[in-house]
Amino acid sequence: MATIMEKYFATVDNISDHFVERLQKAVAIPSVSADPARRHDVVRMGEWLANELRGLGADVDVRPLSKQAGSEVDLPPIILGRYGSDRNKKTIMIYGHYDVQPASKSDGWESDPFVLTSDDQGRMFGRGSTDDKGPVLAWLNTIESYQNAGIPFPVNLLMCFEGMEESGSIGLEGFINSEAQGYFAETDAICISDSCWLGEKPCLTYGLRGLNYFSVTVSGPAQDLHSGIFGGAVHEPLGDLVHVLASLSDGDGTIKIIGLPEVVAPLTEKETCLYRDIQFTNEDLHSTIGSKTGIFNTTKETLMARWRYPSLSVHGIEGAFSTPGSKTVIPARVTGKFSLRTVPNMTVEQVNELVIQHVREEFQKLNSKNILEISVLQKGKWWLTDPDHWNYVAASKAIEDVWGLKPDLIREGGSIPIALVMEQAIGKNILLLPMGRSTDAAHSPREKIDRNNYIEGIKTLGAYLHHVAG
Ligand SMILES: [Zn+2]
Repeated sequence: MATIMEKYFATVDNISDHFVERLQKAVAIPSVSADPARRHDVVRMGEWLANELRGLGADVDVRPLSKQAGSEVDLPPIILGRYGSDRNKKTIMIYGHYDVQPASKSDGWESDPFVLTSDDQGRMFGRGSTDDKGPVLAWLNTIESYQNAGIPFPVNLLMCFEGMEESGSIGLEGFINSEAQGYFAETDAICISDSCWLGEKPCLTYGLRGLNYFSVTVSGPAQDLHSGIFGGAVHEPLGDLVHVLASLSDGDGTIKIIGLPEVVAPLTEKETCLYRDIQFTNEDLHSTIGSKTGIFNTTKETLMARWRYPSLSVHGIEGAFSTPGSKTVIPARVTGKFSLRTVPNMTVEQVNELVIQHVREEFQKLNSKNILEISVLQKGKWWLTDPDHWNYVAASKAIEDVWGLKPDLIREGGSIPIALVMEQAIGKNILLLPMGRSTDAAHSPREKIDRNNYIEGIKTLGAYLHHVAG
């Protein structure tokens, strides 16, 4: 006799063409949130999604947000959905977004970005296919597969889909905070599928780095000066700035800010083990960056440098001479931009304090009569959760059921601000469950999702909910 999951998987396979058609319909709506002229399409996409959910028997709540600040354009609504309200079942909250990045054929697409186009390798090209319409619809397809298989749905599902993710999630944080003890109050755990695998193997993400971004301005003369006339007689802002920026780190990436390395969480034996079997090589790094300029010799060091240690990057200098030629200018005012990717146990305030102190001290050493100003442009905390939590264990079992292997437990070097917002507001474990492959080119021309990842992804979500229920 077939097990419950075998029955579910067979049902997914049987109606997989229908699921691809659903994705086709979604990709056909150009819900580009960055373009106010396309806002009606984003709203249309939200309505389409709400209708699909209603068709599956979910209770849907379309929540309007305010007007976008500084314009007369309405923000697209948050689509809330509830499927099941059995007090004896766990309640899983899911998040996704129905807006997409801009796309036009002239950017390098071989086919219309808003027509889902398959090739003979099973790749389905289209804007939003992997980010995030494929994963969002996979949740709907999971509900439908349970229904068609005649299997009771294992959990209660609370759904939260936004339409501004690609434009800074305007309005979402306030909404989540206001509903944390309302619509989302019964949440036992959260699952977000809005990222891709590290390589060619399924993975689960349990940590993200934070970001503190700074700007340092050095100014002196009232206007740009000629180096032939004034060079040697005046303190030069750009020279001062370059000294300060150079003092932040060494050539091998070591951060030189006093007190900063001390606040990084020590590496434990248990954490080291997580890096052992991760499917990634330094060759993968080199092929992605298009050069052999990686700093470390081992994969483990490379991954740790990207995930569990802080990094400092200098991004640019505003106001400096930057066009070809040999203009003999002394810029009067220059602004350097740099940022730190932060990790446990660094705090936002502590990092700001140490960085500002370091920059001021280094500038003081120059004995310059110029003026230095430093400001914080952006700040966001890191996020780290427990990969042994039942939420992760359920997802890990699901991946073993569907893919026949244990997922890599990974962290990411970038940030997904919504994960932190939800954790702080709702206070429950968050699972990041990627669906697409690293080659999916989210945000780029020729974004795609493999049919296999989409269909097996539906199986994975269904099996995950099955294991959540125990
Ligand atoms: Zn996304």
